[in-house]
Amino acid sequence: MSVIPALRVSGLRKVYANGVEALRGIDLDVAEGDFFALLGPNGAGKSTLIGIVSSLVNASAGQVEVFGVDIARHREQAMRLIGLVPQEINFNLFEKPLDILVNYAGFYGVPRDEAVRRAHEELERAQLAGKARMMSRTLSGGMKRRLMIARALMTRPKLLILDEPTAGVDIEIRRGMWKLMREINAAGTTVILTTHYLEEAEDLCRHIAIIDRGRIVQHSTMKALLATLDVEAFVFDIDGVLPASLPMLDGVCLTARDPHTLDVEMPRAMDLNGVFAALAAQGIRVRSMRNRTNRLEELFVRLTGKEAA
Ligand code: ADP
Ligand code: MG
Repeated sequence: MSVIPALRVSGLRKVYANGVEALRGIDLDVAEGDFFALLGPNGAGKSTLIGIVSSLVNASAGQVEVFGVDIARHREQAMRLIGLVPQEINFNLFEKPLDILVNYAGFYGVPRDEAVRRAHEELERAQLAGKARMMSRTLSGGMKRRLMIARALMTRPKLLILDEPTAGVDIEIRRGMWKLMREINAAGTTVILTTHYLEEAEDLCRHIAIIDRGRIVQHSTMKALLATLDVEAFVFDIDGVLPASLPMLDGVCLTARDPHTLDVEMPRAMDLNGVFAALAAQGIRVRSMRNRTNRLEELFVRLTGKEAA
């Protein structure tokens, strides 16, 4: 059975007029029903990618299909399948939530009666029912964000894309939004979320792609990615020469880099002394050791903001 992905991106490139190469050949598949995280530091190209997928930005090269619909050839049809929640609040603060939702749906050709019905439904889901006729300006930050999600859902999109929906909002608001996003996904909508919070992606998403400087540097399940993060890598300098066959140690991967140097990968939780002892039992004495930096982890340090960019 051939399954049409919710999103298929191939060979996507974007060079802005000022010469910035924002995307350098992106290939990406997102399955229908998935909760997908696109994780990357500022300037990685997340918004550019989302802008192209939602037809707001023109690609320089490559192809995008939304549920099999080519966005270049059938722009309107593709746009109808997508709901976009942009990073910045972009509704009129002097309109009421109900009107914002109804007018938005009207713009997409939803008849007024149906739009009003949907608006009440979405306001309910976003826990904004009591605010339907208040001036939007008076909503709290979290409510404004939920209103943006409600608006995106007015066209009943099959794919909801959220561009850093929780950037800079406090943890309580984030939790509320996570709950809402989970419910939307559970109801059958495919969700793509960009974020630079690792823990957010970890909490919500089944699949993840990491984007850095316009390239996908990792694309896997969240589970597999987390497994790679639990590994610590060292380089051991050995006294003398390594034997031809290295000892077998449960959970530890030993590789001779050269006759005097051993590459060691082991679970972070494991005690190094046990490894030293097992090596010593085979006559291998470790003279000195250093941490081998894990590229992926370096990336994460940057992503999670623990190091200045
Ligand atoms: P992210 O959303 O991951 O922070 P962006 O897609 O916004 O990244 O930006 C990727 C790169 O493209 C950055 O170097 C940014 O400065 C540049 N860029 C983004 N938008 C424009 C634009 N409209 N014109 C020129 N350069 C842009
Ligand atoms: Mg962005």
